[in-house]
Amino acid sequence: MTSLTDKDRIFTNLYGFQGADLKSSQARGDWDNTAGLMKIGQDEIIEVVKASGLRGRGGAGFPTGMKWSFMPKAPTAGRPNFLVINADESEPGSCKDREILRHDPHKLVEGALIAGFAMRARAGYIYVRGEFIVETEALRKAVAEAYDAGLLGKNAAGSGYDFDLFVHRGAGAYICGEETAMLESLEGKKGLPRLKPPFPAGAGLYGCPTTVNNVESIAVVPTILRRGAAWFASFGREKNEGTKLFQISGHVNCPCVVEEAMSIPFRELIDKHAGGIRGGWDNLLAVIPGGSSVPLVPAEQIMDAPMDFDGLKDLGSGLGTAAVIVMDKSTDIVRAISRISYFYKHESCGQCTPCREGTGWMWRTMERLREGDAQVSTIDKLYDVTKQIEGHTICALGDAAAWPIQGLIKHFRPELERRIAERQGDVREAAE
Ligand code: NAD
Ligand code: SF4
Repeated sequence: MTSLTDKDRIFTNLYGFQGADLKSSQARGDWDNTAGLMKIGQDEIIEVVKASGLRGRGGAGFPTGMKWSFMPKAPTAGRPNFLVINADESEPGSCKDREILRHDPHKLVEGALIAGFAMRARAGYIYVRGEFIVETEALRKAVAEAYDAGLLGKNAAGSGYDFDLFVHRGAGAYICGEETAMLESLEGKKGLPRLKPPFPAGAGLYGCPTTVNNVESIAVVPTILRRGAAWFASFGREKNEGTKLFQISGHVNCPCVVEEAMSIPFRELIDKHAGGIRGGWDNLLAVIPGGSSVPLVPAEQIMDAPMDFDGLKDLGSGLGTAAVIVMDKSTDIVRAISRISYFYKHESCGQCTPCREGTGWMWRTMERLREGDAQVSTIDKLYDVTKQIEGHTICALGDAAAWPIQGLIKHFRPELERRIAERQGDVREAAE
């Protein structure tokens, strides 16, 4: 496995040490002969993205090139193709797209043109999280600069292709990050997820063929074309290729967002970039490796795990957005998962019964377990309810609410039972 050096990094302005404006971005290599990159043709660009092994960076890891290939090759004027870029980054723990929007927006704008061209999209929409005020401003500025320089619009970047790009700010609802809720919201409606299938490539924005991609997935495309699919695929393991933005938060000495090779072992990632675990490695309790939607992994299992889609799946968790939340032994793990439950209860759109009723019930039960105010059988009932929610809802929010609790019960059941026993002991003592 190739390790990543400074010269390999795609996001060379991740920390904002240089300007985000067009001139500074061009000095870093953005917009360098974009028309020349596009000359290889639409289908060939899709083949390069496929060969690079790029998998969706929004959390689900669906192969990007394959997704692009679902789009019609001969769209009509009455039913044009669209590209939608998901910048509604809201997953607790995730904060990578924010850095791209703030400091490297031209990578995204150039990537949008190339991706839009490859998929024969008439226009692209970037849907930005409502709370991202600074980020929206930076992005709008980059788009305006690109129009002024002839890089967007008619004959974009001198490619002979017409492509418009719009920035749309959301209003702060987590559920609008779900791709079909995002399409509803863009259409001016309430952000309620749609049933899938049909997938957006069949019926998306205004019923037209649409591809929804994450910010990071699109922003890496120009560099993949410039340096080649083989270069990108040289990082990480088979089926988990490329570089990746990891967001390390929680009980580490130096929380950070960093670009690394996929599949880097967990311990190496933390020691190299986050200054190790607070209080040393013996103090590590558990890690949520991919944002709040994926189950936690206990310390002893994650140490040598490759940080990629398949490595974390093998541990019963997932890479998700690569938002690595580190918890040391000072963490009240039951309280932490209960707080996550509250988040999903709060963000449920209420459209389907298992999620609307289940998220509230799970949170209330988690709060009782936090206090030990329950029976041991409550743990089994809670697990059973998570299984009834998982896979039985319109969108993935139901799963996302169920999985963290399943992870807690699987790995920390003795702690839940200890609290119940302690509480029962207290009650008995008070009665005597
Ligand atoms: P998904 O697996 O349903 O879909 C992933 C993508 O692949 C979608 O674009 C979908 O349209 C496409 N797809 C899947 N199967 C297809 C098929 N048969 N034909 C055509 N296209 C197909 O996952 P999802 O619901 O889009 O996303 C869930 C993930 O989102 C979670 O893993 C979570 O980590 C992540 N997430 C991210 C954030 C964030 O802030 N970035 C927030 C919440 C959740
Ligand atoms: Fe809404 Fe939850 Fe159903 Fe998703 S799973 S559609 S958030 S009620």
